[in-house]
Amino acid sequence: MQVLKFGGTSVNDAKAIAQVVAIVADQRRTDPNVVVITSAMRGVTDLLIDSARAAAAGDRQRYRDARLILMTRHHDAAEALVHDLDDLQRLLGDVDERIREFERLCMAVAILGELTDRGLAVISGLGERLLAPILAAALRARGLKTEFVDAGELIVTDDNYASAAPDMDATRAKSRARLLPLLERGAVPVVTGFVAATVDGVPTVLGRGGSDYSAGILGAALDADEVQIWTDVDGVLTADPRIVKDARPLAELSYSEAAELAYFGAKVLHPKTMLPAIDRGIPISVRNTFNPAFPGTFVVAQAKNGGTVKALTVIRGLTLVTVAGRGMMGVPGIAARTFSTVASQDANVLMISQASSEQSICFIVPEADAGHVTAALENAFASEIRRRLIDRVTYERDVVIVAVVGEGMKGTPGIAAKLFGALGEHNLNVVAVAQGSSEANISLVLGAADADAAVRHIHAAFNLGGMLSPNSQATRNVVE
Ligand code: ADP
Ligand code: ASP
Ligand code: MG
Repeated sequence: MQVLKFGGTSVNDAKAIAQVVAIVADQRRTDPNVVVITSAMRGVTDLLIDSARAAAAGDRQRYRDARLILMTRHHDAAEALVHDLDDLQRLLGDVDERIREFERLCMAVAILGELTDRGLAVISGLGERLLAPILAAALRARGLKTEFVDAGELIVTDDNYASAAPDMDATRAKSRARLLPLLERGAVPVVTGFVAATVDGVPTVLGRGGSDYSAGILGAALDADEVQIWTDVDGVLTADPRIVKDARPLAELSYSEAAELAYFGAKVLHPKTMLPAIDRGIPISVRNTFNPAFPGTFVVAQAKNGGTVKALTVIRGLTLVTVAGRGMMGVPGIAARTFSTVASQDANVLMISQASSEQSICFIVPEADAGHVTAALENAFASEIRRRLIDRVTYERDVVIVAVVGEGMKGTPGIAAKLFGALGEHNLNVVAVAQGSSEANISLVLGAADADAAVRHIHAAFNLGGMLSPNSQATRNVVE
């Protein structure tokens, strides 16, 4: 069984959806058991979220404008793809009903003047619920048996509405009960990505970019032979193609390499996608909808070592927080107190680096958490600061992490020297460094202004670029 997930650009309009239909039909020739998962059209989730936020702030015009855009984009796609008039009529009726639901929800948000996570989850998941029935109808128009399935019927999550975590046992039971009979009847289930529901049926979503995660979850629940992530680039590339022009698709990555890259900002895969697949050893491939002949990237348990450094990513919008002072040396528990304070603030720590002299601890948090984390630390260490054991808690805004990833770096000497050499040569200042315990990742903190140059110079120093195969396209097919 194959689980195929199509991203926003792949279902952006009738032309792209026609391409998706061709890929699904082609897959079914080799394996009749195909489950399709789809994102919303590109930009639709942003539009839904912006409208809901504007409504909460009292702006009702935004969702009225969005309504027209949603109507036009989905009607245009449906009309171009579905020729049976009864089928089209039914489909357009469903689309219009969803859009009315969107309007009613936004109106309620505007009246309340407040947008809860629960409300946001319902509204932000409407894009997938609008698109999946259109994709199902397009497959039907091509002569395939299909059925639209709302993932709220399949994926059971906790009630962390906007970034929910799945209950894999419950999900496995529900999705097998619902999808396996469809497959047995020879139908292709077309499932909404991104969305799920609590055990009581309250809608949730899996976090932004979460339809990759939906594919990982359903792939594991169904014991699929492969999860295919169809997107708009030739696979996982050595770097973000928008930064590095000669970024090259990678043939193979291990689960942990892919997870490191995704965690540190490679948008092509949601960082949690690999989790459910790892347990069952299900391979994940990343393929280009607009270049289906290209094999793309395989993410597997044991990847062939393609040299030392395989790829690099950058994550932006971060702040470096430092707790420093001579008096910290040899005082036990400072690190533990630092991180328990940070944890009490619900801040996500992306990286930690401690000077071996124990005179400072620094760590990285998202920009939005910098202020309250620093204030909480000053509060927690008030007595040490008064006694001058700790000099200060400082922060530096506008930093990035550049993560250099590759399991082949393990035990290979000279990598750090080459990295720092490449940066030093171009006067790029490294603010802090950390090496993951897996040794598959070295993370460098730099000022935001240096980020792109650092990525390009490291990419060049490790010879990661290269000629693309003649039919390969590593860039977006759709102009931004
Ligand atoms: P989809 O809508 O198909 O889920 P996304 O926009 O979420 O697609 O992810 C694909 C995009 O990720 C690419 O178009 C590319 O610009 C970006 N990207 C960033 N880093 C990488 C990388 N290392 N390899 C491939 N793509 C990357
Ligand atoms: N449509 C959702 C988003 O934009 C999920 C996804 O595209 O993966 O976040
Ligand atoms: Mg994506």
